[in-house]
Order: sequence, then C-alpha cells, then structure tokens
Amino acid sequence: MSRRTKDIENFQKIDKYLMISHSQEQVIDQLRLWGLLKQHHEMLCEECNQQMRWEVDIVGQIDAGRYRCYGCKKSISLRKGSIFFGSQMSLPFLFRVMFHHFIYQSSIEYLHSSFGLDYKTVGRIYAYIRMVISTSIEESYEQQLGEEHILEYSLDRLRLDRLSPEEVDDHTKYSPAVEIDETLLTHFKNIDGKTQSQCWAIGIYDRGTKRHIIKAVGKNRDEAIIRDLVIRYVANDPLYPTRVYTDHFRSYNFLANEGYEHIKINHSKGYGRAANTTNHIESLWSELKSMNLFDSGFNTNDIDLVQIRINEAVWRMTRKENDLAVDLAEILGSVNTPLQQNY
Ligand SMILES: [Zn+2]
Repeated sequence: MSRRTKDIENFQKIDKYLMISHSQEQVIDQLRLWGLLKQHHEMLCEECNQQMRWEVDIVGQIDAGRYRCYGCKKSISLRKGSIFFGSQMSLPFLFRVMFHHFIYQSSIEYLHSSFGLDYKTVGRIYAYIRMVISTSIEESYEQQLGEEHILEYSLDRLRLDRLSPEEVDDHTKYSPAVEIDETLLTHFKNIDGKTQSQCWAIGIYDRGTKRHIIKAVGKNRDEAIIRDLVIRYVANDPLYPTRVYTDHFRSYNFLANEGYEHIKINHSKGYGRAANTTNHIESLWSELKSMNLFDSGFNTNDIDLVQIRINEAVWRMTRKENDLAVDLAEILGSVNTPLQQNY
C-alpha cells in the first residue's frame, strides 16, 4: 500500500476519531482509565493529605483548571506525577498524536499538510513513543529463546540422563529449535548512486514459542557479532543442544564449536523436508520490509536508530492493530519516563 493510500485511509479513521477526541473531559477520562492520569480521589495535598478539589480556570491553565487544596490553598496540575507533566501541549492534542496518528502511522508530512501540525513537535512525540516501545521490546528479549522449552522438558530430561542415547528413541523434542537468518535491511544511496549506508539485520526465530528477536548489526555480518548475539539470545544445554537452522553463510560456522547442533539448509536445492527450513524467519523479513519503516528520508549509519525502528515494527507485527493503543498505554504506564525529558 502506498503512503498516499494509507494516508487517505487514515484520514477516514481520523475523521471519525476527531469527533470524540475534541472533548477534553473524554480524553481525561480515557487517560485515567488507562492509569496515565491519577483518579480524582488520588489527588491528595502533599501538605495536608486532604482530597484536593478541581478549580476551573479556562483562561489561565493549559488543562482549563488545577487541583486546589482548600486547607493550605496550594494548587497542583492535573498532570502531576504523570508522563504528561511539564509538557506544554494540550491533552487532546497529545492524545490524538500518541494514540491515534502514531498508531495508524500517519506520516509527519501528512499531519503538517493536513492539520498544520508542527514537524518538530510531532517528530519529538513520535521519537518519544518509539523510544519507550523499543525499551519494552528490548526487555522482552531478556528471556532467551529456547529457555521455555528447556524448562518445560527439564524433568523429562533428568530422567533421560539415566538412559543411554540408544535407549531414547527421539530426544530431539528435548532440545529447542531455532532458525537464524540475515538480511540487508537498509541500503541508502546518494544521488550519484553510491551506497552511503547499509545495515544488516540478524533474525532468530524460536519454533517452540514462535518468539523472535531481530537485531541490527551494521555494515558487516561478521562472525564475531553473530556469535555474540546467538550466545546472548539463544539458550543452550550441552546435553541436549539447541538445534539451529541456518543457510550456508560462513559466519555461522562457530555454532558447532559453541555446542549448538548446527543444521545447514541449502537454499539452492529448494525446500527440503518440512523441518529443514528457515521459512519462518524469511516470512518475517518480507513482513518487516513491507512496513516501509525507513522511508521519509530516513538515512542513517546509527545502528541504535535502526534498532528502534525494528523494535517498533516487531511491536506492530506481534499485536493486532486494534490492540495497539491500549498496549501503548500499558507500556507508557509502566515506564514512567516523562514526555518532557525528550523535549
Ligand atoms: Zn493542603
């Protein structure tokens, strides 16, 4: 789908959406429901511990009012203790950008030309959301691929240890199976056609849990880099080595030395037996590339920036579009990084 078609489609969704988001009260209610703003009864005065009351001030205050303590007269913002504290943007505006335009991937150019929204402001909000999502995805990578499988069969495996390998018919089910593949993810050229920057990505797919990890590695697919990634992200038990399916690319030759069971797939011979494929990771590549993550003049040698875009894509791919807004709210509620820090 072209960016333009996508924008027109988004426009229809936005149209419908704008009708509800115009109401400040509804936005506040929704943010409270998600736990991103405190509930009314949670607004207690730090001095008197009294429940504070809402004082309307349509002219002077960004949220058209403040909470005031009728004991000591101290007042605080509705946003105190929330990720929105310190931001000068109205809540309906932030809500629209964060929970609608970002979710439906409205481009910054489109928001500028259709709504007159400032490039920099929207860019910063998008960058903030991407950073938060990326951190959450990286945290999910802390559990190694194959780890669940090893735990699931740990008791069976203890019993198997007392048997000789000949006594065990097929012990492959006791070892996890992962696929690893690499792809050229970004490939930017100068006007003269010379390659300016390129970035490879390594993907690891766990057949058991269907979880995957995608890591940007930069210009080269060096054995040392791939080796570090595999050791860090793929669990292995020397007694029942994790089976690792790869192509014949030479940078995978370390696998056997590191105690993994290495199974090489020969792509040129077509698809072999059902188990002998890296198809899962290859369909992941085509999905990732169809997401146009690197358009709009995105041209960088910064691996971290590429990784943030990959993590965003992984986040989108592994959730239903309808669940993204709620999921984002959940992530934002768990990180506690104020929006303001990124301005
Ligand atoms: Zn007070």
